[in-house]
Amino acid sequence: MRKTKILCTLGPATESPEVIAELIAKGADVMRLNMSHASHDWVRMVYARIREAASASKREIAVLMDLTGPSIRTGDVEQPWQLQVGDTVEFRCKPEVTASTHYSVTVNYPDLGKDLKAGDIIMVDGGMIQIKATEVTQKHVIGTVLTKGEMKSRRHINLPGVPVRLPPLTQKDYADLDLGVELGVDYFALSFAREPGHIQHLQLLLEQKRSKARVIAKIENQQAIQNLDALVEASGGIMIARGDLGSECPIEDLPLIQRQIVERCSYHGRKVIVATQMLESMIENPVPTRAEVTDIFNAVIEQVDCVMLSGETSVGRYPAKCVEVLDTVISRIEQKYPSGRFASDAPLKTNKHKTVKAAILLANSIPGSKLLVFTLRGVMAHLLAHQRPEFAPIFAFTPNLHVSRTLVTARGVQPFVLSFVEGEPEASIRAALDLLRRDGHIKAGDPLVILSDALYEGVNVDAILLQEA
Ligand code: PEP
Repeated sequence: MRKTKILCTLGPATESPEVIAELIAKGADVMRLNMSHASHDWVRMVYARIREAASASKREIAVLMDLTGPSIRTGDVEQPWQLQVGDTVEFRCKPEVTASTHYSVTVNYPDLGKDLKAGDIIMVDGGMIQIKATEVTQKHVIGTVLTKGEMKSRRHINLPGVPVRLPPLTQKDYADLDLGVELGVDYFALSFAREPGHIQHLQLLLEQKRSKARVIAKIENQQAIQNLDALVEASGGIMIARGDLGSECPIEDLPLIQRQIVERCSYHGRKVIVATQMLESMIENPVPTRAEVTDIFNAVIEQVDCVMLSGETSVGRYPAKCVEVLDTVISRIEQKYPSGRFASDAPLKTNKHKTVKAAILLANSIPGSKLLVFTLRGVMAHLLAHQRPEFAPIFAFTPNLHVSRTLVTARGVQPFVLSFVEGEPEASIRAALDLLRRDGHIKAGDPLVILSDALYEGVNVDAILLQEA
């Protein structure tokens, strides 16, 4: 059983019911709907297709809605500009400001002239064009082109190292959020999360809307890195958004930042997703580069919860092949390198944490053992996954469909929906073992470490049981 989960971004290349079913068959665990490129009608259509394909395949699949967040973009240019080194470019902070240079464009961020200062670097299109600010006023920013390139309309802008006062969510995000809540997505990803307050704001909105979805903070700039511990603690998990991070931070720092984020998630007990360019070359080619395979190796060795595909599956030519490559490469690495030491310095804050740790020590010391957890709200199962058992897979049973879907993102967890027989834990265990036998996950004699926080004779007890299948 592969432990590291595979997250696929859906798009035109993967919107048909057949391709969605193929992605699931090849091993996709989580589907990402990227609201930067999706209309509401498309999301409704694709969401229904995901749920149908998942139920036909009898697998739980989680859905993550990725909110666009407050990105800075240029306005329209009449014709693409062919910028040369030394050219002057003007960014107008408000539409009513008149152009004062040949290359002049509006931006969607009125505070650009307040946040920047002369000497700051403006990265256009993921850093393809770099411009150095030379004159900054509240009306406009004028800069000199440092690297030549073609600039089209509505280009994404990064401002490395510049603290920006963008709001946490835009009007578009609020409308997208309502759609996600209505459909019942399991996770929302918040782009450009920079402060814990941004996560708390979204989480509160979800509570008000009676959604149980969890919030993943996308770490994309230096402001977020400065607030890393607080952001990790405030969120349900972190996405290492290496695309924007690579523009916002010195590129040589990127692997160090990835390692730092994984360590902080390990300490605080939060999910961690490694995103972007895992198999970039496979957007066009049927085989990965050697460097990409080694990047996957690195993420698996870091014991992250999920790796993510973006353009590879949304617009690429070989989406199913990409999932297959991830599945085979990850499985090979996991066979050779057991988990371990991931959360070794994480504080065991509660007795529940300690019980989970004890169950894992037991499972680690019994060769061939498997962990079973009975969980109503998912808490114990998420804790188990976080402590990273060395070899044992985690089979999680919950009566709650949403809880079981959120568990799909947890490393090493295979969730099942199962109604608990009230007051009769033995009957619930028997039913769970029947399910596992049916699917070929256990055979007679397998050592099972069973963990439960279910009600027993009116009292909520955390219990560890050791028995043979
Ligand atoms: C990224 O920047 O790496 C990322 C995942 O964000 P997006 O795809 O929304 O740009």
